[in-house]
Amino acid sequence: MSSRRNFLQKLSFSALAIPSFYTFNTGDKEANAQPFDTQPYDGPVLRVALMGLGSYANRVAEAMKDCKMAKLVGVVSGTPSKIPVWQKKYDIPDKNCYNYENFDSIKDNPDIDAVYVITPNSLHREGVIRTAKAGKHAICEKPMAVNAIEGQEMVDACKAANVKLLVGYRMHFEPKTLEIIKMRKAGEFGEIKFFQGLSGFIIGNPNQWRLDPVLAGGGSMMDIGVYSINGARYLVGEEPIWVTAQETKTDPVKFKEGVDETIQFQMGFPSGAVASCLSTYAMNNLDSFFLNGVNGFAELQPASGYGPIKGRTHKGELTHPHKTHQTIQMDEMAEIILNGKKPIVPVDGEEGVKDLKIIDAIYSAVKSGRKMELSL
Ligand code: NAD
Repeated sequence: MSSRRNFLQKLSFSALAIPSFYTFNTGDKEANAQPFDTQPYDGPVLRVALMGLGSYANRVAEAMKDCKMAKLVGVVSGTPSKIPVWQKKYDIPDKNCYNYENFDSIKDNPDIDAVYVITPNSLHREGVIRTAKAGKHAICEKPMAVNAIEGQEMVDACKAANVKLLVGYRMHFEPKTLEIIKMRKAGEFGEIKFFQGLSGFIIGNPNQWRLDPVLAGGGSMMDIGVYSINGARYLVGEEPIWVTAQETKTDPVKFKEGVDETIQFQMGFPSGAVASCLSTYAMNNLDSFFLNGVNGFAELQPASGYGPIKGRTHKGELTHPHKTHQTIQMDEMAEIILNGKKPIVPVDGEEGVKDLKIIDAIYSAVKSGRKMELSL
């Protein structure tokens, strides 16, 4: 970050200091969420613009109301009618509203530090690269891009612009998940032998972008299977060295060429541990992780939904209170960007590229029927 940006940020941090109480989120799904923090806070705040005002952006915006270190201050949208609605709801000034034509002028806006790209998958690359070129930090939804080459281009663009790139991996901050990682690091499960990841749901409307190979870059693997991939990596605690995969397609009309319906895949790790996973758009009630070591086990079910996440190990139930994932994520990401905090599980662009290399290898394995070697 340039010294000018540093200076402008410091100036505006005090002006943006937010009050010592936070709205308690009483939305249906989050009714039992805990307030994130009740301590007074007058430190630096990451000022964020959201790009792509669809369903997930709405969820992030609501969750950000409870953040202490991150604040929604701007929007980027190609749908003019959405902008006044968001301005009113989140108190966003005209000068912080952009469309895709004038977005690059955000570089001259000293009141926005970061852009969170929440558009369809194949548009992430362009959103992030334009954000980097404007000198703003980028947060990008998963999957970070539609293949590892594009992901690497995004990493390189952010490096060249000296801005940070983070991927919206909210589970990497989830307390029960982090407890299992802590137990594994302390050796409580003994040598890890096996991981099982099941990720899936029945996808509805056949005309949505998630079923368009160009906008989605794939099918269930891009959207939901990626949770089992990074779940395997952070729970086993190693990088896979090979992958095999098999596809099942029962509805070739809904799931066109290039859009996977169901893929089973297996990964092998340097220690000899193996993972067996399923990614699908054709079955509900699939959201679970199981980790087995020689001395114990851990399971999460649900493992990656919006929560509450439920977990237990051979020692008993995990009882950490539920907090809205996106609130924790955005506060943690603000700490990473503003204070250089190192998260327990990385959420940077390199982490996103590793998952994309695995996805690329899974698609190659499906096509060739061969075991693919990985070097992450
Ligand atoms: P959505 O369809 O609800 O929203 C997409 C937004 O992008 C819309 O506002 C749409 O207008 C805009 N858009 C811009 N250009 C578009 C184009 N050419 N075609 C279609 N829409 C266009 O989708 P969503 O569920 O909000 O998903 C957006 C991103 O967020 C995806 O990458 C998805 O994987 C990710 N996501 C992440 C999570 C999570 O838990 N981390 C959850 C849901 C979605």
